[in-house]
Amino acid sequence: MLNVVLFGPPGAGKGTQSERLITKYGLVHLSTGDIFRANIKGQTALGQLAKSYIDKGALVPDEVTIGLLTSEVEKHEDPKGFIFDGFPRTTAQAEALDKYLDARNTPITMMLSLVVPEDELKTRLLERAKTSGRTDDADPKIIENRIATYHKETAPVANFYGAQDKLHTIDGVGSIDSITERLYAVIG
Ligand code: AMP
Repeated sequence: MLNVVLFGPPGAGKGTQSERLITKYGLVHLSTGDIFRANIKGQTALGQLAKSYIDKGALVPDEVTIGLLTSEVEKHEDPKGFIFDGFPRTTAQAEALDKYLDARNTPITMMLSLVVPEDELKTRLLERAKTSGRTDDADPKIIENRIATYHKETAPVANFYGAQDKLHTIDGVGSIDSITERLYAVIG
């Protein structure tokens, strides 16, 4: 199995590039953000809980997110692999994912980390807000919180995979096609 963690700050292009990678490699796309938004739309209890964190630019608690992710993995029978997009976002999530996948004998193959300067992230998120309908993209204060949360809680996850020699950093600036080519080159 090819299990890829696609990593990077908000606005790095994880969702866009995931779409390319699932087509090329026949993988299942698992985005915790997308799942939370679908639950908000469907007005579920999980959606209501997630919204209270998302609206602040904070992370949904680990126990909720980890449980959600593992139940999503289990929905897929005999997959070629997964793209984990927006998960893991804390070291505790990464540890839980490793433990879960190790028990299934399907460990993470690699982490691909998209690197984009902060000014560019903010510009991209505000631009995306025009069409995404995402309130967390439209408010500069929420964007600031999301980026600060990324630095404090999420960035250390790269070290977690770095220590396992699974971390690949990719320049996330340029045309969408050129960034896709960089990802293909690393995955092989
Ligand atoms: P995203 O679509 O990945 O930008 O996620 C949108 C929001 O959903 C984030 O700002 C968090 O509030 C929440 N979220 C998504 N994935 C996670 C995760 N793995 N852990 C905690 N919160 C998450």
